Amino acid sequence: MTLREIKTKALEDIDLNRESIINLGKEIFAEPEVGYKEYRTAEKVDRIFSGWNIDIKRGLALTGIRGTLKGARPGPVVGIIGELDALINHDHPAADSETGAVHACGHFAQIAWMVGTGFGLRHIINELNGSVVLFAVPAEEFIDLEFRQGLKDEGKIKYFGGKQELIHLGEFDDIDLVIMNHAQSDLPGRNVFMTDGSNGFIGKFARFTGRASHAGVAPEKGINALNAFNIALTSIHSQRETFRDQDMVRVHPIITKGGDSVNVVPGDVTSEMYVRARTTEAIRDTNIKVDRSLKAGAMGVGASVEIKTTAGYLPLRNDKQLSDLWMKNAAEIVGEDNVSYTGPFGGSTDMGDMTHLKPGIHPMVGAFSGDLHSKDFKVTDEEMAFIIPAKINALTVIDLLYGDECMAEKITADFTAEFSKDKYEELLDSLTYNLIWKE
Ligand SMILES: [Zn+2]
Ligand SMILES: [Zn+2]
Repeated sequence: MTLREIKTKALEDIDLNRESIINLGKEIFAEPEVGYKEYRTAEKVDRIFSGWNIDIKRGLALTGIRGTLKGARPGPVVGIIGELDALINHDHPAADSETGAVHACGHFAQIAWMVGTGFGLRHIINELNGSVVLFAVPAEEFIDLEFRQGLKDEGKIKYFGGKQELIHLGEFDDIDLVIMNHAQSDLPGRNVFMTDGSNGFIGKFARFTGRASHAGVAPEKGINALNAFNIALTSIHSQRETFRDQDMVRVHPIITKGGDSVNVVPGDVTSEMYVRARTTEAIRDTNIKVDRSLKAGAMGVGASVEIKTTAGYLPLRNDKQLSDLWMKNAAEIVGEDNVSYTGPFGGSTDMGDMTHLKPGIHPMVGAFSGDLHSKDFKVTDEEMAFIIPAKINALTVIDLLYGDECMAEKITADFTAEFSKDKYEELLDSLTYNLIWKE
């Protein structure tokens, strides 16, 4: 078959399976599960893969599942990723009434795109080199941290991010390039964006310990841990003038416990925060300032503070050649005017980690109104929300794996990894530490 014939057949096969793909996306939306608990979501993927007579690996990082479409000859391996997990937002009308879980980050659509790409490629894979791994991965949202800490303590996971864990387990070792797509915040039209990367982050927990006492009778006997937190917060705000614009630093704390009882001087106050920035260096630099601020709060009132820091995700780097190829195919389907390169994305993803190790892309896709994670997030355009990105992915994979000296080989050869897998894990481990400050 010619390249054009292969592509036409792939697009036809996606259209032929339109209903199955859309139903899968809708079923996943209707039964949201948060990270490392996505057993039913994975089963839905399994049901489709099982009908395809392909190699399947299940239970990867607890819930991950991958299916491999093998080409006619050995060659590069392209991974198509879909994220399985929902997040928690009790206010969303579609939220699970008990858990608050809801697909307000569009991951249900990602699974439809990943499986849709498979529908497009499975009957023409013999015309290509190498293979394609369709990979449903767990736990992208960095939430539900107590549960994940429990899994970690039990030795069931090492990392909180699903892709991080799968990298650690070696499940990406045989994959040369990775492609995924993500819903864009409040973009109802049929547009796609390639961002200039994204922020990375680390997660922090701080517990201020003072001394509880009667707030009316004997406040002088107390040490007010809430005041310690207040000073820490002011100190963090005082650092902001030192943040460089190009680093896109964000430090966003919340208070998770502000005291026990209104008539008792708060003796135990807890807080969580992220430190985000566009480079690992800026994250490290800001983190030093935040630790200093937390200690300053404790010092000011004579309290103590325990700080637990956990590696989050590294900044995203979209591979240039792979981006251009995907965007060229996107333009073919949604039109030149609806395809654009934009500035960096302020959020974070464990796809960032992946793109430090191998060429990868994380284009953003319209078809949704309402901001990501908000109660208003919803599908506006079914064709785009479930089908079109699968077509763009399929065309891109065909371009990557077609012919001698195929393009995937060139992109892989031109890519320089930021570090080896061992060095990557060393970095994550160095960003995970506990410290206690007391006088
Ligand atoms: Zn999200
Ligand atoms: Zn997401």
